[in-house]
Amino acid sequence: MATKTESSEQKSPAEATKFIYHFGGGKADGNAAMKNLLGGKGANLAEMASIGLPVPPGFTLTTDVCTYYYENNQVYPEGLLENDVPEALKTVEEIVGKKFGDPKNPLLVSVRSGARASMPGMMDTILNLGLNNITVEGLATRSNNPRFAWDCYRRFVQMYGDVVLGLKPTNKKEADPFEVILEAKKEELGIELDTEFKVEDLKDLVSRYKIAIKEKTGNDFPEDPYEQLKGAIGAVFGSWNNERAIIYRKLNDIPASWGTACNVQSMVFGNMGEDSGTGVAFTRDAATGDDIFYGEYLMNAQGEDVVAGTRTPLKLEQLKAENAVIYQQLEDIRRKLEAHYRDMMDIEFTIENGKLWMLQCRVGKRTAFAAIKIALDMRDQELINEAEALLRIEPEQLNQLLRPIFDLKEKQLAIESGRLLAKGLNAGPGAACGRIYFNAHDAEDAAKRGEEVILVRIETSPEDIRGMAAAEGILTARGGMTSHAALVARQMGKVCVAGCGVLHIDYQKGQMTVEGKSVVLKEGDYISIDGSTGEVIQGEITTKPSEVLQVIIEKTLDPKDSPIYQMYDRIMSWADKHRRLKIRTNADQPDQSEIAIAFGAEGIGLCRTEHMFFGGDRIDAVREMILAEDEAGRRVALDKLLPYQREDFYNILKVMGDRPVTIRLLDPPLHEFLPHEEKEIRELAEKLGKSYDYVHDRIESLHEFNPMLGLRGCRLGISYPEITEMQARAVFEAACTLKTEGVDVTPEIMVPLVGHVKELELSAKVINEAAAKVFEEKGCKVDYLVGTMIEVPRAALTSGEIAKVAQFFSYGTNDLTQMGLGMSRDDSGQYLPTYQKLDIYERNPFEALDQPGVGRLVKISAEDGREARPGMKLGVCGEHGGEPGSIRFCHNIGLDYVSCSPFRVPIARLAAARSALLEVQG
Ligand code: PEP
Ligand code: MG
Repeated sequence: MATKTESSEQKSPAEATKFIYHFGGGKADGNAAMKNLLGGKGANLAEMASIGLPVPPGFTLTTDVCTYYYENNQVYPEGLLENDVPEALKTVEEIVGKKFGDPKNPLLVSVRSGARASMPGMMDTILNLGLNNITVEGLATRSNNPRFAWDCYRRFVQMYGDVVLGLKPTNKKEADPFEVILEAKKEELGIELDTEFKVEDLKDLVSRYKIAIKEKTGNDFPEDPYEQLKGAIGAVFGSWNNERAIIYRKLNDIPASWGTACNVQSMVFGNMGEDSGTGVAFTRDAATGDDIFYGEYLMNAQGEDVVAGTRTPLKLEQLKAENAVIYQQLEDIRRKLEAHYRDMMDIEFTIENGKLWMLQCRVGKRTAFAAIKIALDMRDQELINEAEALLRIEPEQLNQLLRPIFDLKEKQLAIESGRLLAKGLNAGPGAACGRIYFNAHDAEDAAKRGEEVILVRIETSPEDIRGMAAAEGILTARGGMTSHAALVARQMGKVCVAGCGVLHIDYQKGQMTVEGKSVVLKEGDYISIDGSTGEVIQGEITTKPSEVLQVIIEKTLDPKDSPIYQMYDRIMSWADKHRRLKIRTNADQPDQSEIAIAFGAEGIGLCRTEHMFFGGDRIDAVREMILAEDEAGRRVALDKLLPYQREDFYNILKVMGDRPVTIRLLDPPLHEFLPHEEKEIRELAEKLGKSYDYVHDRIESLHEFNPMLGLRGCRLGISYPEITEMQARAVFEAACTLKTEGVDVTPEIMVPLVGHVKELELSAKVINEAAAKVFEEKGCKVDYLVGTMIEVPRAALTSGEIAKVAQFFSYGTNDLTQMGLGMSRDDSGQYLPTYQKLDIYERNPFEALDQPGVGRLVKISAEDGREARPGMKLGVCGEHGGEPGSIRFCHNIGLDYVSCSPFRVPIARLAAARSALLEVQG
């Protein structure tokens, strides 16, 4: 008996030794909740079997086996393959009444991967396993269909050769040796389709395939079914670490440590004849979310034919017309599954000689739009409650609702002028426009050059994943709604039009033509695709903001006329009910602030005052101030800046009204603000009335080797207090003016880059003195707070001291990451991708908070700060404030708010609500 692994320590000893779980014959060892151990596929097969659905019997080798395999130099737990797997097969043999390797009535199995999270097409699968020169005859006799048996055998040898024996070229440019043999045979026979092969031809193909295997590997094709099975299991576990699986895991945040399970299941055949078939379906429409049964099927075909998109399948409604009994059974299963799982499911089924079998079910992937619609509908149908509905929508999915759509008039004109080239399947909604690239590598390169790209493929395969990720949109000539392109595009949130059969794509020539049209589209030409309607249009079409933006920002659309907006609004209002974190925005312009308010921002968490100086002549005054040699010179420049600042603060505070606004004192890393080019330096010199040499030398004298660690943040105001004085004066004068106009504001003045409490003390002194002066001059007083950024590790670790002076903390996690990890936030691109590839940091730490490191600094600081100043207001204003995982961390450690860019505010609202709900769930 195999022994347990280290990784399963937490389980009871009885369970810990269990590496194999059975399903089928009306019962199962596992269930849907055991995804971590059985993988998604295995867990759901078990669940379906136990609720009485027809599942071909089989067993699952757990993810613990995979972990063990990788932790022990690719060795399996003792006795697993030699004893336990043959034992498990016996149970299957008993249920199905066939025997593995039996010459008369052979049991054939499929061997499939199945990780905790679905990774469509990324790992390996082997079908029809157990066939050899003897069992094929048994299958031929039992099925009374020698052609079918030999076709299965031909496919099996090919698949086994490709996947297990490694004959499939890794480079797409090289041809698959089996395809070469197949094509040669067709040519010899003068036929075009696989279906035209006769038994003798298939036999010949099998022997040619075996010769190819011997030539390439030096070994014979394994005739022993157990040897085949061992090889297949090894290939499945090995495929967890193939290149495309690794890329997919990176893109989808799936940890390498999860491992895959391996399902060995008795085969059922959809290709046994015209009363057999196979299909895939969604219990609701995965693109629109509509409550309709949406599926596709092919008669006389194996499952891979549908998923691979090599034959364009038929709509499920047609099955209703052709085989009402099977359709009704499927419809019943659809309802049973939805009621049981309380979610939209994606199913795979096979009909073998008129009997329906369920091969897979899993929670169905869906567009952001469908996710929202299904969540709302299921809540209305009382399948789920409000909290569950919120947990069904990933915060990032909201991005899709905020995505551009085509300018309708322009699109109409394009169509009227004959630019509509084709209509395919609306596989991934949204509008995309870009240059055509026919190959994933070129698409990726073009995107790196900054081009907008539409990846156009006959059909996509998992190898195309990088190109798909880089593209704005994906267009395919073949494949249905459940083909690889469609599934992956939807998951990535890409615009996608699939199965556009009238496109004739010539990879060699780098061009495509459209059936019935004279147009030739070349690589680099513009094309526009509408993933909501399936339209493919020649040339460029301007994109417009989504309906949600039209309602809330542009106010060009009445909310009543936009069901999309209404859904967004409903979700947002539910989210607001459940969240505890407040959501602020990082904005430094009144228009940005207005957008953020429209998106639901409750205040400004960071107004970067240096950004207020980017426009017009202001930058010149800032440069004059920086270059001044003495206080008198600086004051001249500061006098020029004061009116700008006052006006800016007045406008932004007015827009925000009684919402809190955190204004940060100047934090200009000098290298960002001083000119470097000779031409610019000359212009500046002229404006300042100085010589070129003078300005040039002065800039040189201010040069810093590490400007990010240089004269910036509070160091500036400590070195030159008149700068802080001017800024504080501008804030208080603006606030007093607003007060006299009846707008009561409470500005929060924030000091950047504090590392030592004395820095804050000195800065606060200048601020408070400026306040007192302005209040006296104006005969008016406003409430205000003085707080600090915590963005230097020393500040985080001495927060107890700092909190005695600071009235609030705002975590600048950009700098805290930069200084905490010792990685430049500006140019870590040189090595960070390698770091991520090597899993040193799973995600870019400037995007997703490094919780064990930087997060720990934040947590320590929050605890110490609140101990010194109970109830102290704490927030995050680094970019992490808009990232769902980081938001959850902020929620969990009890911060008061997160602050993010205006367009991420809806995402942050939902993420905050989900954090609160997940906390309750534990
Ligand atoms: C930070 O460092 O996280 C921050 C918000 O400040 P800035 O990005 O302006 O340095
Ligand atoms: Mg900073």
